[in-house]
Amino acid sequence: MHIKFLGGADEVGSLGMVMDTGRERMLFDYGITPDTPPGLPLPSPHVDCVFLSHAHIDHSGMLPWISNRYECEIFATPPTIDVTTLLLEDSLRISEMEGYSLEYGLRDIRKTTSLMEPVTFGETVAVNDTEVTLHDAGHIPGATMFEIVTGKVSLFTGDLNMVRTNLVNGAKPVKCDYLFIESTYAGRNHPPREKTEYSFLSKIEDIVDAGGTALVPAFAVARTQEILLTLANTDYEIWLDGMGSKVNKIYLEHPGYLRNAKKLRNVMKNVNVVRHEGDRKRAMKGEVILTTSGMLDGGPVLEYLEVFRKKENCGILLTGYQVEGTNGRALLEKGSINIAGAEVEVKTPVYFFDFSAHAGHDDLLKFIEMCDPEKVVLMHGETREELAKAINGREVVLPTRGMEFEI
Ligand SMILES: [Zn+2]
Repeated sequence: MHIKFLGGADEVGSLGMVMDTGRERMLFDYGITPDTPPGLPLPSPHVDCVFLSHAHIDHSGMLPWISNRYECEIFATPPTIDVTTLLLEDSLRISEMEGYSLEYGLRDIRKTTSLMEPVTFGETVAVNDTEVTLHDAGHIPGATMFEIVTGKVSLFTGDLNMVRTNLVNGAKPVKCDYLFIESTYAGRNHPPREKTEYSFLSKIEDIVDAGGTALVPAFAVARTQEILLTLANTDYEIWLDGMGSKVNKIYLEHPGYLRNAKKLRNVMKNVNVVRHEGDRKRAMKGEVILTTSGMLDGGPVLEYLEVFRKKENCGILLTGYQVEGTNGRALLEKGSINIAGAEVEVKTPVYFFDFSAHAGHDDLLKFIEMCDPEKVVLMHGETREELAKAINGREVVLPTRGMEFEI
């Protein structure tokens, strides 16, 4: 079997892996690296079909490029299909606003959506002689691991989480010969989730008690819903702004992919959704504001920051990893952010909470042991060596962008 990484091997972003069995050529994920302008993977060769693990743009952002050229089917779960369409349209909108060109337009996005073939966990897709079965990856609703049977068994994890969160159940290991596994958190572990939830809720209580507002920037996809579920048993005045409510709607249309759809539906009954500028002004007087973008690089969060940045009785509660070069990272490191080209100081206290949807180092290692492969290919990581060192008695491959190898 011949493997080539088009990107996303030694980097978190632009993932694309071509698997050529000699009879079939399949592409697993095809994403971009969100940046201005975005980083792109290498051009894909002609493939028979694509398997998409989940909607995040670093796994899906190049699909319109391939749809435009090869018209091949893209297999994905229904929530992945709907959220991918939403994110692709959003990327296009941002590129037009920021004045750079993506390699595709709206027509290519429409084509991508029409080429997507819904499949679900437990289902098997036959590509000539190869059988591909879907398993829950536990990362976000609909996120999939693909088990590829060609005689030998391979497993492509996409992004992976074993911890059961409020939103989804964790992934279960699958016995395989070759394991292609993400390694975003190689060398790092997360604090226990209950501890994170407890300190997050305590901090909100402190802020509200002091008469302030808790500003919670969160990614629209999955993080917003995880935070809403974390707030389920509280009675704060909560406002939701940005794309998160569209994603809620999609997830609730596919309740089988959520751990507890009823709970999310109930939480939403007590949440105020910002629909226009007037609502935003009211939200600013509320107790909790949940809004995009998660790394403060755009979206309504910047409007809130303009107002809150001098208020020391309020608080900014970051809910995910802040990538280098983003406003979120600048806020953590320097206490300032860039709004429309101007550097502005933020006096509001900033707190960080690790609500990551990726497996930590120890969980990755445990997962590898339980899958019991002879070969492990570590992808989607910048600190993979840490994990490679900890794996005993198995061949470990650390591919790089453009690298081709036989397995
Ligand atoms: Zn992801």
